[in-house]
Amino acid sequence: MTSAEPGPLVVGVDVGGSKVLAAEVTDGGEVVTTAVRVTPGRLVEAALVEDALGLAVADVARGRPVAAIGVAAAGFVDAAGERVMFAPHLPWREEPVRARLADRWGTLVLLDNDANCAARAELAHGAAKGATDAVVVTMGTGIGGAVVVGGQVQRGRNGMSGEFGHAQVVPDGQPCECGHRGCWEQYSSGNALVRLARARLGHEPTLLDELCGGDPARLTGPMITRAAEDGDLVARQAFASVGDWLGVGLANLVAALDPEVVVVGGGVSAAGDRLLEPARAALRRALVGAPYRVVPPVRRARYGPEAGAVGAALLAWAEIGRN
Ligand SMILES: [Zn+2]
Repeated sequence: MTSAEPGPLVVGVDVGGSKVLAAEVTDGGEVVTTAVRVTPGRLVEAALVEDALGLAVADVARGRPVAAIGVAAAGFVDAAGERVMFAPHLPWREEPVRARLADRWGTLVLLDNDANCAARAELAHGAAKGATDAVVVTMGTGIGGAVVVGGQVQRGRNGMSGEFGHAQVVPDGQPCECGHRGCWEQYSSGNALVRLARARLGHEPTLLDELCGGDPARLTGPMITRAAEDGDLVARQAFASVGDWLGVGLANLVAALDPEVVVVGGGVSAAGDRLLEPARAALRRALVGAPYRVVPPVRRARYGPEAGAVGAALLAWAEIGRN
């Protein structure tokens, strides 16, 4: 191949509850360009979501032939990587998404869960690079996760491992969208951050009043991040609580898995040490036998909102390498 001849174009697409993010990704995990489309929602025909995927891919491809597409879906993907079994924020229910998209686009398509894809990206080129055993937690609206053992992302017997967010940490605790109560993500997630801060609006002075225009319903995670940076006590205490609960949950995972590193990604991780310092302290406090063992470092993910798309693209690159 000469330098004038471009290599194959591989696109990763992350399909989340609010947006579809497509990225051209090199085999070295570098993001060349991205495009974002709005996800039509979960109460629409699945074809509309697939239209949005196609448009995002076309935005990135700009007329060039696409060699392979990796799709990271915010939902349960079966062990074969063929079907999305269930996705709380998308209309896919036991849908053969991989084959349908491959037919529709006439190209190679690979499919996996978004957190598994994020873990693949961090493992190959990010904060877990070189690790044989790792835990990856993605904190956004809820908590997603993935387990790495022996250098491989573990998908479980049915493809559904790593759903840490719905481990019960408080019996009869806060109700969760999953239908259960007291799930970890009800105490440590973007949703938890907003709920904690919202409960204090109107009761004490806080910059958040102004940021949300006096309407607690309009309060968002990024507003709380901004207020915390400006020294707002309510915002800082919300992060301290969410960070503490993060560490408590991580202590359970570390007790079970003994990883060499814990990586925290997702939107909430943009707060960096404001989230991770209380998490590290709680991990040391809550982990069994902490003084007598190696407590793994808790690192912020390298890949931000692009992690799922990068990991999905790497899955597609690996498949190209096999063919
Ligand atoms: Zn739950």
